[in-house]
Amino acid sequence: MNIAHNFKEIHYKIQKTARQWVRDPQTIELVAVSKKQPIERIIEALETGHRVFGENNIQDAKKTWERKGLKTQYPDVKLHFIGSLQTNKVKDAVTLFECIETIDRPNLVDAVVKEMKKQDKKLMCFIQVNTGEESQKSGVFPSALPSLLCYAQEAGLEITGLMCIPPQHEPSALHFAFLKKLAQAHGLKNLSMGMSHDFEKAIPLHATYLRIGTSLFGTRKD
Ligand SMILES: *Cc1c(COP(=O)(O)O)cnc(C)c1O
Repeated sequence: MNIAHNFKEIHYKIQKTARQWVRDPQTIELVAVSKKQPIERIIEALETGHRVFGENNIQDAKKTWERKGLKTQYPDVKLHFIGSLQTNKVKDAVTLFECIETIDRPNLVDAVVKEMKKQDKKLMCFIQVNTGEESQKSGVFPSALPSLLCYAQEAGLEITGLMCIPPQHEPSALHFAFLKKLAQAHGLKNLSMGMSHDFEKAIPLHATYLRIGTSLFGTRKD
């Protein structure tokens, strides 16, 4: 497992695909998904200079980044929360993270707004859209997106863009194209879409954040 090599390879693929589609590679941010990875692998990634990481569990993230001191050691790290967020974990999320990609309901909007005020800290926020309308998945259904956006706006929560996780057995590109349309319709500039197996399909559809785990770190321990 050579993490530095993996990062180089993924960056190369991102640049190559971006150029193919006449996009500036600088407009594509790599979120290295470090959930359930051994700390040595994360340190290797940090040693390459990478600073943007994704975690999907508050407890695990606190352990890695807070208790083991990685966030103190690397103060310019930016953490993206990419899991489903319970309101009782919002306090910890706002403390530890710079971005929440999974806003999906009004009471979460309220909790995040309240906690950001309390801590005087602004986080970048995405709304997660359940583009496949899968009942087991989080995310707002596409039909409810306009009202959630309105709700966030009225509550004073700035939404930078949309995020989706396509259904496993459907072509990702269809969902990426749909998410792009929704973002355009609402004047949102950022799109978080594309994982290890489909990020090259997300680039032509204007992804601005790619969330990549296993291709960078190898398989996860569960
Ligand atoms: C785990 C995870 C990823 C990364 O998936 P890989 O297939 O390991 O690249 C991306 N997005 C979300 C929301 C995840 O939970």
